Amino acid sequence: MALVEIDNISKNYQMGEVQVPALKQITLSIDEAAFVSFVGPSGSGKTTILNLIGCLDKPTEGKIVVDGKQVNTLDRKQSAVFRGSVLGYIFQAFNLFPVLTAYENVEYPLVMIKNELALKRKEQVLEVLEAVGMIEQKDKRPDQLSGGQKQRVAVARALVTRPKLVLADEPTANLDRKTAINVIRLMHDMRDKFNTTFIFSTHDAGIMAEAEVIHTLEDGRIIQSKQYPSSVQEGEK
Ligand code: ADP
Ligand code: MG
Repeated sequence: MALVEIDNISKNYQMGEVQVPALKQITLSIDEAAFVSFVGPSGSGKTTILNLIGCLDKPTEGKIVVDGKQVNTLDRKQSAVFRGSVLGYIFQAFNLFPVLTAYENVEYPLVMIKNELALKRKEQVLEVLEAVGMIEQKDKRPDQLSGGQKQRVAVARALVTRPKLVLADEPTANLDRKTAINVIRLMHDMRDKFNTTFIFSTHDAGIMAEAEVIHTLEDGRIIQSKQYPSSVQEGEK
């Protein structure tokens, strides 16, 4: 079943007098529990399409449905509520709070969004920290962690609310190759464990090869979509 349906969307940014076309008539769908990558050079539209799917921005034209809800017509408040209940985010620059420990960073969305009871919260935080292999570092602050460890904490933070969909815009751009591949493989394992759909972007060929579905962007258009047969079979089990 499709979790994300993108129907003929275009996005133009207004720069003073000029319109900058960032996405041009894109139609595609993304299945539940898919592991999908948007790839393409800088300026091809990766961040724009992730922001539209992630309800952080609106298309100029077209329709986007996420988890059965048409999101392009939501107002700011409705978008915020939808984001909090359905989506998780992982950022290129990790975006952890420097004064909070790994545990507190992961707990934060539960405190802010879900208002969970303290005891249940602890269980949920420990479960995702365990899943990403960061239990032993849970009391460390970001400056005591390596880049790869920070991104593991960020993956746990994105998952702690049990979102249906996690969006990650160039999550490995600040990591060395080996660490980057490990972080993507961790995301893949988390898809398997929690059945969460993951959509990430990258401009790195070695990283994109870890995806099961690859949409290639060039100048705001999808020029190729590829699905890897072995992973399709896995997904259908
Ligand atoms: P990518 O993430 O692949 O590097 P982006 O989605 O950031 O690409 O950008 C796509 C195009 O839209 C580029 O031409 C970029 O310059 C333009 N663009 C992105 N954000 C803005 C903005 N806020 N205002 C004007 N133009 C923008
Ligand atoms: Mg970008």
